[in-house]
Amino acid sequence: TSLADYRGRFAPTPSGPLHFGSLVAALGSYLDARAAGGRWLVRIEDIDPPRCPEGADTTILRQLETFGLEWDEAVCWQHERYAAYQQALDQLMQQKLAYPCSCSRKQWQGHDIYPGWCRNGVCEPGKPVAWRLRSDLAQRPITWQDRLFGHQQFDPAELGDVVLKRKDHLWAYQLAVVVDDAAQGITDVVRGLDLLDNTPWQRQLQIALRLPEPRYLHLPLVVTPEGQKLSKQNLAPALAEDDKGVRRQLFQALQALDQAPPEALATEPPASQLHWGVAHWSVERLSPVRHRMSP
Ligand code: GLU
Repeated sequence: TSLADYRGRFAPTPSGPLHFGSLVAALGSYLDARAAGGRWLVRIEDIDPPRCPEGADTTILRQLETFGLEWDEAVCWQHERYAAYQQALDQLMQQKLAYPCSCSRKQWQGHDIYPGWCRNGVCEPGKPVAWRLRSDLAQRPITWQDRLFGHQQFDPAELGDVVLKRKDHLWAYQLAVVVDDAAQGITDVVRGLDLLDNTPWQRQLQIALRLPEPRYLHLPLVVTPEGQKLSKQNLAPALAEDDKGVRRQLFQALQALDQAPPEALATEPPASQLHWGVAHWSVERLSPVRHRMSP
């Protein structure tokens, strides 16, 4: 793909409002797309309703707008995409790469990964089943070139047979993300380093489903002064809604991405900060080291 065809995305799970860590991921993917003259899409990954409180999706979209992060095209909602996921699963079933599994986690406790007991027939017919991807038949090793973390190589057999559809009939993130990245024509996945571990399964699925391989850029995580990943659990700072707070946090997000914005930018409105960010975006500046929030 030439850079002009660049299509990036931000794909939040609406399990709550965005926090500072998710703002940094959104900003990183936005700047990378805009600096390439590309499109930037938003996908709401609402495949797990029990985890997604009512209204969190609209809160997220409002937050993006408040920070000036305007997206192209219609928002993609994963709850409208179940038929496409089923089609992908059918394709994997036909290739005998997906299989039903009745085992419970309790049954295989003591093993690091699920040992694949149901691969050649369900252990307990009649019980509810999850659908898993066969890692023993995958191309190996799984590789990709991360734009920041360099050459990545994994042996699928060590990662195990990932769940594609759960026993409660909910679709798993790994399958949904791969199907939708392809459907939306995503050329560049830019997201937090916490998702790097998932990429081997996504590459495995892309290969099995004959889907194109996007470029990957995993962004260093923002951590607390104690070195913990920012999350709702450790009370990551909420995103500001007032104009002054929004300007300050957007500036801090540029800093967290190691873009070294000039101090004078800190009080500028989002549009000016983003304009500067796009003009100066440099992946080379990103340090693979975790960025600690100042206390
Ligand atoms: N929905 C995932 C999350 O919010 C991110 C998906 C992705 O960027 O691949 O953690």
